[in-house]
Amino acid sequence: MTELLHTVKPNVRALQAYTLRPDRARIKLNQNESPWDAPAEIKRETLRRINARAWSRYPDFVPDQFHQQLAEFVGWRPDGIIAGNGSNEMIQALLMVTVGPGKRVLISEPTFLLYRQITTVLAGETVSVPLTTELTYDLDALRGQIQSTDPDVVIICSPNNPTGCVIEQAELASLLEMTRGLVVVDEAYFEFSAQTVVPLLRQYSNLVVLHTFSKAMGMAGLRIGYLLGAPELVREIAKAILPGNLNVISRTAAEVAIEFYSTELKPRIELIIRERDRLFRGLKQIPGLAPIPSQANFIAVRSAIEPPCVLEALLRRDILIRDVSKYPMLKDYFRVTVGTPEENDELLAALRDVFIEHRAVAR
Ligand code: PMP
Repeated sequence: MTELLHTVKPNVRALQAYTLRPDRARIKLNQNESPWDAPAEIKRETLRRINARAWSRYPDFVPDQFHQQLAEFVGWRPDGIIAGNGSNEMIQALLMVTVGPGKRVLISEPTFLLYRQITTVLAGETVSVPLTTELTYDLDALRGQIQSTDPDVVIICSPNNPTGCVIEQAELASLLEMTRGLVVVDEAYFEFSAQTVVPLLRQYSNLVVLHTFSKAMGMAGLRIGYLLGAPELVREIAKAILPGNLNVISRTAAEVAIEFYSTELKPRIELIIRERDRLFRGLKQIPGLAPIPSQANFIAVRSAIEPPCVLEALLRRDILIRDVSKYPMLKDYFRVTVGTPEENDELLAALRDVFIEHRAVAR
């Protein structure tokens, strides 16, 4: 067995796999998904189009029509877009063509774990600066690291998973201007923040933006994401993409979702934003909890009870949240996804219960 594993790169063997406990619960608030299934109209129209298409035929090598539709939807040029199997695939493709031994990737932590994971698999070096004590982006620290380590890639997750903080346009512009490398902004949750850095693509050719259909668009199960960047850069990144990476079912569903966006999906996003703010106020009123302001569809919460115990106590009440206490700086934190209004009510009631019980026992 050890003989066999000698074939694996030591940097990969030292890594822990990026995975998630397979817990199940009636109220699922652990993966920042939409709490509602895709609207029936979107499902029906998608299935109708898929039925009319020959399944025996490959998808287009480059889905030009879909790129055109995405371009109009987001306000960028079709030759500066790659779509694929979730934004995860886009992160991987981008890092595959930029990272190797001797290359440096600058991130702020805590953040989405995959940036460090993929950089390590590719034998690159991750340079990390902590968020501020308020869990917001530390621009001075980022600028300092850009100056001292000259990174090849800077990745900013905005809104940041799992803290919900955003980077402002002017702050991002200052990073774009001072670095020789690429700046990737992962906007997986931008729809909940009412801001996007997409307009900066016109000004900065070293900016790359990532979007997904997994969160606000409500299609995590279909795995659709896309990357926006300068056409000459996108042509290089496309070399790391497998042919037919975006399957016909997912592409069709994404096309239909865009067509139904204003009528079916936008109202849901607006409701999630209102619910996030209501949930925040509710969490704040529970003794022992301190929620962090968030611009995403989730909230990180500091907890007077150890996060793994909160997770177990809620699981017994059929509610699943995310324990993020292993992330840097977040020893006392769990994360909750914003659910439906009813789910959020149940979550708040359950947390009140758990924390009141805890106080009773502590007395
Ligand atoms: N980026 C961030 C910040 C995320 O939180 C996630 C999902 N958890 C992703 C990217 C990946 O999303 P997907 O591959 O489903 O598009």
